[in-house]
Amino acid sequence: MLLPEVEVIRKDLEREVVGKRVKDVHVTRAGLVTRHRTRARFVAALRGRRLEGVTRHGVLLALRLDDESQLVVHLGALGSLRRETATMRPRPGTQLVATFTTGGALHYVDPGQDGEMFVAGAASEALAGLDPSGIDPLTDTFTWPAFSHRIKADGRTLRALLVDPAFLVGLGDLYADEILWTAGLSGGRSPSSLSSQEVRRLYRGVQEVVHEAVKQGGTSADGFEHQDLYGAPGAYGAQLKVHGRAGQPCPRCRQPIRDGRADDGTGFHCPQCQT
Ligand SMILES: [Zn+2]
Repeated sequence: MLLPEVEVIRKDLEREVVGKRVKDVHVTRAGLVTRHRTRARFVAALRGRRLEGVTRHGVLLALRLDDESQLVVHLGALGSLRRETATMRPRPGTQLVATFTTGGALHYVDPGQDGEMFVAGAASEALAGLDPSGIDPLTDTFTWPAFSHRIKADGRTLRALLVDPAFLVGLGDLYADEILWTAGLSGGRSPSSLSSQEVRRLYRGVQEVVHEAVKQGGTSADGFEHQDLYGAPGAYGAQLKVHGRAGQPCPRCRQPIRDGRADDGTGFHCPQCQT
């Protein structure tokens, strides 16, 4: 799950579950709560607790509980949270169902095996390690000085740098391609070759793409299906300029988009207006 999609879910959860008290929890895949010795211990840590807030640490979500502990949620690559009615039967792939005392339920649906959840006390070391090493473009740590300093000091190509979560959190191939197109830069460039004006363009490109993707409810496109808490697909997929659009005309200069993944690792890009 990429950064804009996790932020969309965080906002939905804030609106939908904060203030609710957990009635019961049912976990169907033990691996989901592997940090607890048994599923029953995980369930016991949640049952009867009121949800007080939702924060995001990179691509992890933390739901604060009324006993100062937190439910940490790592949505798998294909995982999704869904608000459902209390009587809704779980769909195939549902790994957790939480019901609330006031009615309604939250389902975690994931056909994969890479999602994880755990409850940790306020003083837990597990909570101390939540914050990512990379810069989060949706927070105020994403400053122009921090960005330009770290980008200039890196020896890799621009695209390799953008997809590295230790540099910027949760962009992935999809948003990296869109950011490079927005900035008019080739992903094969060396960061040290960028003029300060080009670094500025890239910085603005990151902001523009990430904020717009959140505003549009994330991306739902071929091979990348994202739905919000209510099951609505993300609308940013219709706004993708280059990613997944090989052979189609560039929206800026009409040259055909090229897929450079196999030969030079540049990703989807416009060979004419990204230099
Ligand atoms: Zn172009």
